[in-house]
Amino acid sequence: MRTIIEPFRIKSVEPIHWTTRAQREQFLQAAFNNLFLLPADDVLIDLLTDSGTGAMSTHQWAAIMEGDESYAGSRSFDRFRDSVQDIFGYKNVIPTHQGRAAERILFSCMCKKGDIVPNNTHFDTTRANIEFVGAEAVDLVIEEGRHPSTHHPFKGNLDVDALEALIEKVGRDRIPLVMLTITNNSGGGQPVSMENAKAVSAICRRNKIPLYFDACRFAENSYFIKLREKGYENRSPKEIAQEMFGYGDGCTMSAKKDGMANIGGFLCTNDDVLAQQEKNLLILTEGYPTYGGLAGRDLEAIAVGVQEALHEDYLKYRIASTAYLGNHISAQGVPIVQPPGGHAIYIDARAFLPHVAPDHFPAVALANELYLEGGIRSVEIGTLMFGPQAKMDLVRLAIPRRVYTQSHIDYVVEVILEVWKNREKIKGLQLTYEAPFLRHFTAKLEPVKVAEPAVAAIH
Ligand SMILES: *Cc1c(COP(=O)(O)O)cnc(C)c1O
Repeated sequence: MRTIIEPFRIKSVEPIHWTTRAQREQFLQAAFNNLFLLPADDVLIDLLTDSGTGAMSTHQWAAIMEGDESYAGSRSFDRFRDSVQDIFGYKNVIPTHQGRAAERILFSCMCKKGDIVPNNTHFDTTRANIEFVGAEAVDLVIEEGRHPSTHHPFKGNLDVDALEALIEKVGRDRIPLVMLTITNNSGGGQPVSMENAKAVSAICRRNKIPLYFDACRFAENSYFIKLREKGYENRSPKEIAQEMFGYGDGCTMSAKKDGMANIGGFLCTNDDVLAQQEKNLLILTEGYPTYGGLAGRDLEAIAVGVQEALHEDYLKYRIASTAYLGNHISAQGVPIVQPPGGHAIYIDARAFLPHVAPDHFPAVALANELYLEGGIRSVEIGTLMFGPQAKMDLVRLAIPRRVYTQSHIDYVVEVILEVWKNREKIKGLQLTYEAPFLRHFTAKLEPVKVAEPAVAAIH
């Protein structure tokens, strides 16, 4: 088979900045050993997130010039709604400034105190918005999805037996909706199968509970189904997405992911009464229903972006590029969440640094070392983010869409392998400042003072 190449050529370039290790040591110290506090200009390859960091196409930039900035009845809204409906098929399309705004409006209208919302795995903003209205967010991902090294083609699947048992136990009246996150971001970017979506939908319809998709990475999920699920080999990613959304009643979406845009989101529903309530709330905090907190030009970029995300040559390159990174480091023994997900590779920092105790933040220590060694920024998902109850300490390397080339990824592989060789020298960290909530964004840290036994043995 020939090399899978980037299915685009580059028309506009953005320089990135080289620094020396000595400089990076200074920068990291000035940032209190927290990569969130670094100026982005001091980063060479930024894998902090794939959200809003993608490169737009010439078609998107051209559409931006067609933006109609009318307050009401903008023709950009018509194009946006038509494009979204073409794929998602839902009756009502409500634009929002991001995915979390769609979540807040949906849960404010549908949930009340004491309600329960099941999902394969709730993303952190989804969980927070459910808890904010006094409801409970429950994760029901299949058992395989809870173990980093276990292989399964659809590790994002929802456990249908657990869903039926939950409905039986608490009663359908306490479950205003069920959600399915495609792909399962918090579970390693793992896909959900069509068979699973169909089964979840059947349970929901039998119990008259609406099913909503958290659709942020719907295109990547569709491509995994094409690659891995019997009967879908010859279907286009768009046909697969259309079939999947047909099993639901609506969705929330962050256009910063598979919308291929730098900002935006939307909320869809087939329920006209609910849509009216949602639009009333939208007007209160986001904006008029034909722009929802976005500029007309943003709606144009999303209208083109959701279609481009489904192009097969793009998805082939996208999934191959992420897998390339994962497979090349895993082949040398680096422990990662298996199999590689759609948008990111997750390194298991507890297995990478067994000599660093979880309360000394192994994933922060590893992420910092990747920065010192090669100017790469990644993000900790572990004890600093979730506190001592964190079950795993992961370093997430998220790949922005259409931004980095094969040689950038080769460079990232080289840096990770260099750090892997010298892993025994990496020390843990301790906090010198923490905020009362969401502490990972602003925490200040310093290297641990007491030598840990395993580290001491090396000296
Ligand atoms: C990013 C994301 C969201 C929230 O979207 P924002 O645009 O960041 O507000 C919700 N769910 C999932 C799965 C996400 O990845």
